[in-house]
Amino acid sequence: MNKPETRLNLESGQILIVSEEVCQKVVGRKDAFDAVEKVFAAMASGDAYNFPVIREAIGHADALYGFKSGFDKAGLVLGLKSGGYWPGNAAKGLTNHQSTVFLFNPDTGQLQALVGGNYLTAVRTAASSSVSIAHLSRKDSKVLGMIGAGHQSQFQLRAAAEQRDFERVVCWNPHPDMIPALGKVAEELGLPFEAVSAEEVGAQADVIITITSAFEPLLMRDWIKPGTHIACMGTDTKGKQEVDPALLARAAVFTDEVAQSVSIGEAQHAVAQGLIAEGDITPVGAVINGDHAGRGAAEDITLFDGTGVGLQDLAVASVAARLARERGLGEVVHLG
Ligand code: NAD
Repeated sequence: MNKPETRLNLESGQILIVSEEVCQKVVGRKDAFDAVEKVFAAMASGDAYNFPVIREAIGHADALYGFKSGFDKAGLVLGLKSGGYWPGNAAKGLTNHQSTVFLFNPDTGQLQALVGGNYLTAVRTAASSSVSIAHLSRKDSKVLGMIGAGHQSQFQLRAAAEQRDFERVVCWNPHPDMIPALGKVAEELGLPFEAVSAEEVGAQADVIITITSAFEPLLMRDWIKPGTHIACMGTDTKGKQEVDPALLARAAVFTDEVAQSVSIGEAQHAVAQGLIAEGDITPVGAVINGDHAGRGAAEDITLFDGTGVGLQDLAVASVAARLARERGLGEVVHLG
């Protein structure tokens, strides 16, 4: 395997700066899918690990700020994503979620790259649910259900649409005025789109993605038909919740990382209520590696708890840095 500085073709002390704009130019959905699938597999085989997440209310600008970091020994990627949520940003014409990825040389600890993290967060999150759809949903899935219609939902829809031959999309969102923007994306993809009730999403969809900021269940167990795959992507913090905890007891539950699933993910509620145990949750990487069969019978319900791990950010940022360097994009500065 190439050493990190060889891959980026940098001299000692040089740093590559990759802007948001360059990230959007060089990292496509397929790059993100491949990078996230690979790192989930490495996590499950013990070759890559995430460090504990720090997330704090800083008592200024109503902001939540933190770090997600880890080391991928297989891919030789070491670094962290730093950033958080500034609710007043939208009024200033900025994205509320702000983040930057720092990549370090694992041989020397030298900073190697600074990579804009906003676009990458959206593509890596969409890649995560897509990896779950590719490995866990029924191959004959025809109807995609969307619960949520915010910023992330558009990335989710585009990525999911590439995984199965979906024929139409049904959507429910707690704020109906946001739905038409997602409908436009479906239209671009040539997929018929219909706004329905949350119960109807459950009744009609073969694959459902939840991507909201909810703090209470939006989808109930008895609304979900047999054979459905659900990717719960919105719950990434203690207290958040998108689905009925009883649904996790009914489903085969998979996740990106078990430790996060039970503490900040959708499974936190089912585990706290004693409906499932930590040992009932399988890392999706075990399915990718062939160590777990994944979906059992066609009528099983599978649920992916996508909590969002630092290694996903590092994986896509590392791809962004490599591609930017290869194409002569990005700026090189000397830190000394
Ligand atoms: P957004 O602000 O653009 O959209 C918010 C969505 O949540 C909309 O669908 C809105 O209708 C809904 N919503 C808002 N308040 C709600 C409430 N109180 N109850 C129920 N629904 C509510 O946000 P976004 O950027 O699309 O992010 C959506 C969610 O995804 C956030 O919770 C975010 O933290 C989470 N997220 C998760 C990951 C991950 O890796 N798992 C990554 C990025 C974002």
